[in-house]
Amino acid sequence: MKKKLLLLLISFAGLFQAICQNIQKHEVIHLRNSIYVIRPNHPKYGNPSSVVSIGKEGVFIADVGPLEYVPNLIKSIQNLGGKEVNYITLSHHHGDHTEGLEYFKSNKTVKITTQNQRGYLKNSRIFLNGDGHKKESLPNLIFNEKLTLFINKEEIELFTGKNKNGHTGGDIFIYFKTSNILYLGDYVFLNHFPIIDTENGGSVDGFLDNLKHITEEFSENVVVVPGHGTLSPKEFKLTTVKDLKKYHKNLLFSVNWIKSQIKNKKSLKEIQDSKLPELFTSFDKNAIYIKSKTWIKIVYNYYTKK
Ligand SMILES: [Zn+2]
Repeated sequence: MKKKLLLLLISFAGLFQAICQNIQKHEVIHLRNSIYVIRPNHPKYGNPSSVVSIGKEGVFIADVGPLEYVPNLIKSIQNLGGKEVNYITLSHHHGDHTEGLEYFKSNKTVKITTQNQRGYLKNSRIFLNGDGHKKESLPNLIFNEKLTLFINKEEIELFTGKNKNGHTGGDIFIYFKTSNILYLGDYVFLNHFPIIDTENGGSVDGFLDNLKHITEEFSENVVVVPGHGTLSPKEFKLTTVKDLKKYHKNLLFSVNWIKSQIKNKKSLKEIQDSKLPELFTSFDKNAIYIKSKTWIKIVYNYYTKK
C-alpha cells in the first residue's frame, strides 16, 4: 500500500514538474532593433505572440498572452534589459492574447485600446474561466483610428482596419514603422483557414477587405508577425506582406467557391461533404484550429444569415 502511495506521489510530482517546465518555456525571437517576439509554448492556445519593444526608454508590449504565462514573459523581458512595462496594446480581445491584462491592474501602465475593443474586453467571456476582465485591468487610454507612439528609437503606429468588423469587432494593427514590422494578430494563419469571430463583431467580408487593404498599403518586404506560431517554435519564419497577398488570394478563392455552392442551392452539409478543391485539403493538413468543415460553416452561415 505504502509503495502504491509513493508511486502515486512520484507520478504527481512528475506531472507537476512537467507543467512547470511547460510554463517555463518561452521562446524569444529577436526581430530588428528593439523588437522581439516572445511566445509561450502553450498547449491549448498555440503559442500566442507578444511583440515587444525593449530599450532604455521602457517596454512596450502588443498582446500580453495567457495570465499564467505573464510572470515568465516579464522574466524574459528583464533578461533582455527591460524594467517596468510602460505601454500595452492588444490586437483583439480574445483571452489567449489579453488574459494577462489581469496582471497589470495598476494605472502606472498605459494600456491602449479603442472604444470598441474595450467594450469586448469588458463584456467578453472568452477564457478567464468565464469571467470578464476586472475593471482595474481594463485599458486606460482610448484612441479612435490611429495613434503614434515614440519609444526606444522606434515609431509605433496603432491603427484600426478599414472595416471595423474583421477578425472581431475591435481589431487593432500595430506597425513598427522604423523597423518595418507589422503585427496583425489573428489575421494571419498562412497555411490554414483563419477564425472569424462572427459572434463578437467579426465579418468574413470585413476580414478579407482589411487583409486586402493592408497588402495594398504596405510594401511587399514589410515583415508580418502572426498572432500564433506553428506548434513547433523552430519552424518560425519571417512572413512578409508578399506572403500575405497570396494568403488573401487563397482565402478569397475559398470564399468564392463556397458562395458559388450556396448559389447552387447546396445545403451546408452537402457543401461540407462534396469534393473540395485542392486548397481545402492542403489547408486541412496544416490546420491547427480551423478545419475546412468549420471554415465552410463560418462562411456559409455568414452569407446565408446576413
Ligand atoms: Zn483571436
